[in-house]
Amino acid sequence: MNSLIFGPNGSGKGAQGSLVKSKYNLAHIESGAIFREHINKGTELGKKAKEYIDKGELVPDEITVPMVLETLKKQGEGWLLDGFPRNVAQARMLWDALKNEGLKLNYVIEVQLPRDTAKKRIMGRRLCVNEPNHPNNIYVEAIMPDGDKCRVCGGELKTRSDDQDEAAIDKRHDIYYDAQTGTLASAYFFKELADKEGFKYIELDGSGSIEEVREALQKQLD
Ligand code: AMP
Repeated sequence: MNSLIFGPNGSGKGAQGSLVKSKYNLAHIESGAIFREHINKGTELGKKAKEYIDKGELVPDEITVPMVLETLKKQGEGWLLDGFPRNVAQARMLWDALKNEGLKLNYVIEVQLPRDTAKKRIMGRRLCVNEPNHPNNIYVEAIMPDGDKCRVCGGELKTRSDDQDEAAIDKRHDIYYDAQTGTLASAYFFKELADKEGFKYIELDGSGSIEEVREALQKQLD
């Protein structure tokens, strides 16, 4: 079982990805996490990647593609790839590599959310000072704070500074929502192949609650 998951920042892709991952007991291969590991270890690759990551740009394909494909080859079967591909060139190289390695795709999941909603969701996140896992968001009906306090425990709420950095959010979303050569284009590359190549392309409406989206996803998984 090998799958890809797409979704803009703020779409709840992480929550839906963990459902797929635990249902099929998959290795979660996240390109962003691999970069962070390199940066923490101070490797050469990490140093190069950091220059781009700090600017909110994509790390060049010459660095990213071999790194991710190596990880996939090592894994063999049984992965959920998250954060890759992010552009059409990466999508093509991934597809060629899968064919060469004889690896099949089972599902490609796209969590859909309008850009303005995704941005609001990010900017609306509030962090409970007592417990970061208490979900609060001033723009999400299901997890609206209780006044200006945590809806779960009544604790004080804070914002995370990068959630309020509008320019950074816009930059990430420019890349994601680019349907010509960006991340959406790479998702559509797989959408076009799905029927012919025998994998399932699942489109999820990400505007519901995490539970609603999860239920919709469950129904489409075998
Ligand atoms: P993420 O945790 O997925 O948001 O990734 C963090 C950062 O790593 C991104 O903002 C990019 O700079 C870089 N990155 C992650 N995945 C890719 C990719 N597939 N191609 C290029 N850069 C990437």
